Amino acid sequence: MAIEDKVREGLPLDDVLVVDAHAHLGAYSEGRMYIPTPDEDTMVRLMDRMGVDVACISSLEAMSDFRAGNERTARAVRKYPDRLVGLAVVNPHYPEEVGPELERCFEELGMKGIKIHPTCNDYPVDGKGYEEVWRFASERGTFVLSHTWQGSSTCGPKMFASVAEKYPDLPIILGHSGGNPKGYEEAIEVAKDHPNLYLDLCGSLITGAWVERIVEAVGADRVLYGTDFPFIDPFYEFGKVCFAGIDEEEKKKILGLNMAEILRRAGWER
Ligand SMILES: [Zn+2]
Repeated sequence: MAIEDKVREGLPLDDVLVVDAHAHLGAYSEGRMYIPTPDEDTMVRLMDRMGVDVACISSLEAMSDFRAGNERTARAVRKYPDRLVGLAVVNPHYPEEVGPELERCFEELGMKGIKIHPTCNDYPVDGKGYEEVWRFASERGTFVLSHTWQGSSTCGPKMFASVAEKYPDLPIILGHSGGNPKGYEEAIEVAKDHPNLYLDLCGSLITGAWVERIVEAVGADRVLYGTDFPFIDPFYEFGKVCFAGIDEEEKKKILGLNMAEILRRAGWER
């Protein structure tokens, strides 16, 4: 049964590998959003409903307290080891702690990737405080997912060019593909120049039409499904890929095959 038909029937996509490249745990009231159940149990229940196999998660608490937040992520992964993959979060304002915390996250907490949020930390992605992140990730063969937003002084898509160039083998995921329509254009441009840049589709402004434009511009191999759970309804993120006007093989790559490959390279196995 075609993906679109199955989803239209309201059936979970249980015969397609689906990996959510970008999800979070915990509420975030600074965003003025009401999120009553931002926990791993709710997330896994929703994943089951859609037929999502695995989600890459980081804790929102980690943006203010990275150690406690990373431990929170690790607890969720321990509860659902086949369903959740932990991403480590660090704070670029404490550069001397970045290396040791990443080491702890990967060695003791079983994390497989890194999530950074230059806007929340108010720190530019190409600044010194992130250098250890890129170096560590590249040495480990893992990947970095970053929040990106066009117009931001910390993480506009173009700011990733220098890092992508310095670490050509490191997969770098531009979360939200630049965040707004001008950002999608910029993310497309920079991704065209740097084959190690990936674009994730989560964000309420990335409509189905944009999914098609992004895939047409960069190809389906570097586009990733993500939800940004618990911020917006994950059914929306799922639907815009499943119903996009792209072919079945492209949907499969975006929904899971591409991210599974990045994860496997980072040492993840199920
Ligand atoms: Zn995020």
